[in-house]
Amino acid sequence: HREGPVLAARGLSRSFQGIQAVGDMSLSLGRGELLGLIGPNGAGKTTMFNMLAGSLAPDSGRIEVMGQDVTGEGAERRLSRGLGRTFQIPRPFPQMTVLENVLCGAQDQSGEKVMSAFFRPAQSRKDEARATEKARHLIDFLLLSHLIEQPASVLSGGQRKLLELARILMADPKVVLLDEPAAGVNPTLLEQIMERVVELNARGVSILLIEHNMEMITRLCSRVVVMALGRELAQGAPADVIRDPAVVRAYLGDA
Ligand code: ATP
Repeated sequence: HREGPVLAARGLSRSFQGIQAVGDMSLSLGRGELLGLIGPNGAGKTTMFNMLAGSLAPDSGRIEVMGQDVTGEGAERRLSRGLGRTFQIPRPFPQMTVLENVLCGAQDQSGEKVMSAFFRPAQSRKDEARATEKARHLIDFLLLSHLIEQPASVLSGGQRKLLELARILMADPKVVLLDEPAAGVNPTLLEQIMERVVELNARGVSILLIEHNMEMITRLCSRVVVMALGRELAQGAPADVIRDPAVVRAYLGDA
C-alpha cells in the first residue's frame, strides 16, 4: 500500500437525534500530505475527526488506515495502527508534570482514557529508561524542555496543545489528526506551532488539520477540503477555495 492513501473515508454519515451532522463524506489523505479541513462552525469537522479516530461510530460508511478496513475498531486499536489525534481542548492531568503526562495516557473530553494504547507499565528498567529518553526528546522537539518538571496546570493553552502532541508522538503515529492547533494561541507560540507541524510533516508524518486560522491553512496546506452542513462543499488549493463563491456564501451564512 505504499502508493495508496494512508487514510481514506468513504461515504461517512452520522446523525444525532435525527439531525445529520455528517452526510456522505469521503476524504482521502495521501502519504506525506498535509491536508486542511475547514468549514464554518457546526459544519461537521469534529464529528468527522471523531469517526476517523475511532471515538465515534459512523451510521454508515467505511474508514481505511494504510489500506486496512478499521471501521469497526476503537481509538486505541487505530492508534496502534499508526493513527493519532489531538483534541480541540486538551485535558492533561493537571497535577502531573509535563514529563509524566507525556509518559502516561491522557483523557479525552468525556474523561475516558482513549489514547493510552502506547502506555504500558514498563517491562524493565531499561524499557522505562528508553521511554523516558523518548519523552524527553519529544518534549524538546515541542519546545517544552524548560517546563518538563512543572505540573501541566501551569501551561498555557498553546503549550497544552504542544504537550498533547508530544504525548501522541510517543506512539510513533504515521498519521496525525490535528484539531485546531492554533485556536487561542498567542502569535509567537502560533508561529512555533506552525513550524513544528511543518517539521513533523517533513519527518514523514501525514497530517489532517482542522483549523479556522486561514493563514495557517494557506501557509501549510497545498490542498484543503471545505465542509458545510455535514458535506463536502469544495476542495482544492487554499487560494482558489477561499475565492469560491459557494465557500464565501457558506461562511457568510455562518456569521
Ligand atoms: P466547530 O468549528 O464549531 O468545532 P464542527 O465543524 O467541528 O464545528 P461539529 O462539532 O462536528 O462541527 O458539529 C456538527 C453538528 O453536529 C452540529 O450541529 C452539532 O451541534 C452536532 N453535534 C455534534 N456532536 C453532537 C452530539 N454529541 N450530540 C448532538 N449533536 C451533536
